[in-house]
Amino acid sequence: MAKQKIYLDHAATTPVHPDVLAAMLPYFGNHYGNPNSLHSFGRDSRRAIEAARDKVAALICADSAEIIFTSGGTEADNLAIQGITRAHQASGGHIITSAIEHHAVLNTCAYLESTGFRVSYLAVDERGTLDPAAVEKAICNDTILITIMHANNEVGTIEPIAAIGRIARQKGVLFHTDAVQSAGKIPIDVRKLHVDLLSLSSHKIYGPKGVGALYVRSGVDIAPIQFGGGHERGLRSGTEHVSGIIGFGKTCEIALRDLGKNMLHVKDLRDCLEHMLLERIPGIRMNGYPDERLPHILSVSFEGLEAESIVASLDVEGIYASAGAACTTSAIEPSHVLTAMRLPSHLAFATVRFSLGWENTKEEISQTMEVLEKVVTNLRRFYAADAQDLVVVTFADERSAVLARDKMHAMGIRYTLAATPSHMREKDVSHVALFFPSKHQDKVKKILEKSGIEVVSLHHLQGISSPMRGMELKRMEHAFWDTVATGKKDGDSGAD
Ligand code: PLP
Repeated sequence: MAKQKIYLDHAATTPVHPDVLAAMLPYFGNHYGNPNSLHSFGRDSRRAIEAARDKVAALICADSAEIIFTSGGTEADNLAIQGITRAHQASGGHIITSAIEHHAVLNTCAYLESTGFRVSYLAVDERGTLDPAAVEKAICNDTILITIMHANNEVGTIEPIAAIGRIARQKGVLFHTDAVQSAGKIPIDVRKLHVDLLSLSSHKIYGPKGVGALYVRSGVDIAPIQFGGGHERGLRSGTEHVSGIIGFGKTCEIALRDLGKNMLHVKDLRDCLEHMLLERIPGIRMNGYPDERLPHILSVSFEGLEAESIVASLDVEGIYASAGAACTTSAIEPSHVLTAMRLPSHLAFATVRFSLGWENTKEEISQTMEVLEKVVTNLRRFYAADAQDLVVVTFADERSAVLARDKMHAMGIRYTLAATPSHMREKDVSHVALFFPSKHQDKVKKILEKSGIEVVSLHHLQGISSPMRGMELKRMEHAFWDTVATGKKDGDSGAD
């Protein structure tokens, strides 16, 4: 089993590139001038910000004056959608988007709906692709904005943005694309894509978190959604996040410089992982468009299993991936993206996203494959045996959970690991739980007592069907986590 850390969650965030960190550090130290000050100390910061703006613009073939710095992709999406609807509401009240957008877009649209706008959420096909003809058909006389993501963050499918952009231009409707996942990963030319607005985020491309940008095509009328001193051409008031912007600029420079090399590298690793998975693990399904897909994202559904158990099991082996379905604050519902792609809920809950980065190696992929094969085999054996009547133990920390797991493993007791649902991370609930058949309860209790492993809670879960049944199981599991959060011990979870 792997010992070192293998990070395969680059679509969630990336490490800061050492050269980016080096470029930022002076702006935490001696270079603290306010870029809006008139003195030379402030003007130095201003010059650095404008140099960063040039680099961000270069990444997407835009003019520097078309870049507005924001606090990240979420704010860029909000500014684009709310800013355009605010400026153009006199011309109409209809917005077009897709069912697979990031929540930064979907929830902004939902908010606008609550204020009286109409929103069309267009369907995608099984591979996550939107048909440009569907966009054309949805355009009404009062459509003021189309917002469709460049590439999807869960499955990597790249949308036909240039074709949609041509339609939008022809019809005179403004067009925004969320390029948070694609920028720096594949070439982007805003002119060739015919987009009017485009969102970027620094932390997906080896820059710092909390900084991003919105490209606003020169001449597009957009209103601010935040008010103050009129920074960023009046569109984003607030003293600039100088060090963050410098880091963002540097990372865009590196991403553009190394784009071809990095694309080939991550695609090679992704393809290698995909081939090995298909060869060595039966009962899996790849999601997303086979060709028109970001080079670094691989979305895989493991039949009969639960993504959270796979991710938790990989986690304790030092491998970090993401449960495709658990990306929202409440993981009870399956991912809206996979659901829109018509993936049945039991497969949506069984979907793991691996997203690769420039620093990953072939060796890491081989190690991941080795661990994954063992994890999937163990979990499938666990669920194939009697998993109807389970005991769940939570631990004070991950080390205790791993120790207990190793003891149970040595005694030949089947188990599965689960991690706390994301909506409970803020509560003081232990992160890892071990599930095992209740017939071993006395034996396990003795092992734990004898080895002094600290247990936070012990629950009985009855009536879990095997194989797992998506939503039903999720609800039971959530009921269990709720009882953990409210501090019940040694009780029955009431999940039967
Ligand atoms: N849009 C997409 C497609 C994303 O994947 C993300 C982040 O995961 C965002 C927007 C939000 O970006 P940020 O984290 O910079 O707010």
